[in-house]
Amino acid sequence: MSSSNQELTIGLDVGGTEIKAGLLRGSEIIATRRWATEREQGPDHAVGQVLLAAKSMSQEFPDAIAVGVVVPGVVNTTTGVAEYSENIGWKNVPFVKLVNELTGLTVGFGHDVRAGGVAETMYGAGKGFSNSFFMPIGTGIAGAIVLNGELFDDPYAGEIGHLDVNSGYMCACGVMGCLESISTGPSILRIFNEKSGSQLTSASQVVEEAKMGNSIAQEVWKQSVEAIGFTLASYINILAPEIIILGGGVSKAGDALLVPIEKYLDTRLTFQRRPKLVVAELGDHAGMIGAGIFGLRATQ
Ligand SMILES: [Zn+2]
Repeated sequence: MSSSNQELTIGLDVGGTEIKAGLLRGSEIIATRRWATEREQGPDHAVGQVLLAAKSMSQEFPDAIAVGVVVPGVVNTTTGVAEYSENIGWKNVPFVKLVNELTGLTVGFGHDVRAGGVAETMYGAGKGFSNSFFMPIGTGIAGAIVLNGELFDDPYAGEIGHLDVNSGYMCACGVMGCLESISTGPSILRIFNEKSGSQLTSASQVVEEAKMGNSIAQEVWKQSVEAIGFTLASYINILAPEIIILGGGVSKAGDALLVPIEKYLDTRLTFQRRPKLVVAELGDHAGMIGAGIFGLRATQ
């Protein structure tokens, strides 16, 4: 689908570290800007940074007809309120109202992971599939559920990172055993460093160590990947996606991630329809492009 005749939108993808802003036409990125979220200066300051980004973008790109804002945490798209984010610390921020008052633009609003899922479904790896599951594996793990071509947009849905995989580790959510406690980038790194006495600084280094034959790295990686496979097998049994799209920093491992998950699924799936398993195509831009889509939809 050509998007050349579409209107310009501004997409803001708000993360714990930075706000990715783009001038967009469909999936085409015409310009990007970045702001630091500066969450260490408190939630009110972080809200101010989002508003600063929205105002600056609307002033720099006056041809944009709408702005979309996507944020992490519990997001109520009906009221336009970011109800809670553990990551950033804010509570009940009425972003739609605030950004509209500041910019005069129509405002679309949503959850960052679900925005990424919508973008991958429309323009990326999920194009042409009506039942998909997009799961970014980064500093956290969550999923965007698309059923019959529609995003399932309940604020509490998709928290696959908190399925119990019996990891033996405490999760940030307060209970033992969640997928996030063993399979996020920081978890993989932490577990490897603890077991090996190493001081590596990223999960991708652990993957490299595993490839070079480090047996501790291989074991840590295997456990993390099998835990992902276990949760995906559960998802497949319940919602039968045609395609599963893995995103986030850990998905950059590519075949080192996909091949062992496929092998694990071989042991768990028999009669079920086997979904395609792929890595995301839009990379770090999925959330921002999704924000632009939400902005455009808000005008319609
Ligand atoms: Zn948890």
